[in-house]
Amino acid sequence: MSNCLFCKIVNGEALGDIVFESDSVLAFNDINPVAPHHVLIIPKKHISTLNDIDEKDFNVMGKIHLIANKIASERGIAESGFRTVFNCNKDAGQAVFHIHMHLVGGRKLNWPPG
Ligand code: 5GP
Ligand code: ZN
Repeated sequence: MSNCLFCKIVNGEALGDIVFESDSVLAFNDINPVAPHHVLIIPKKHISTLNDIDEKDFNVMGKIHLIANKIASERGIAESGFRTVFNCNKDAGQAVFHIHMHLVGGRKLNWPPG
């Protein structure tokens, strides 16, 4: 998707503070962190919303969760705790329409979310 910000980060056309990369997954620090650790983990393949995944995406969606575990562990927040979130569409406040897992941690997180 030529006009997608996160595709541009994947392609190197936009700058991202990249913390992990594999053939199918990219992770980078959120530009506007809401906690001491706030990483976005995305499939390199463009998928607009969580509504658009299907069986052929099982592998990459599973990998995204494993990468979240790895980053949380490396950053020392696996045991203290962290949160992973996919916002989907308007009511959830999705702003970038290339799916991304938010990995948030490093402070006490409130529940329920606002
Ligand atoms: P959403 O609201 O779609 O779930 O989350 C979009 C996230 O992308 C927000 O947390 C926002 O701070 C982040 N973001 C928006 N533009 C950029 C950017 O250019 N670079 C990075 N690293 N993060 C961005
Ligand atoms: Zn995209």
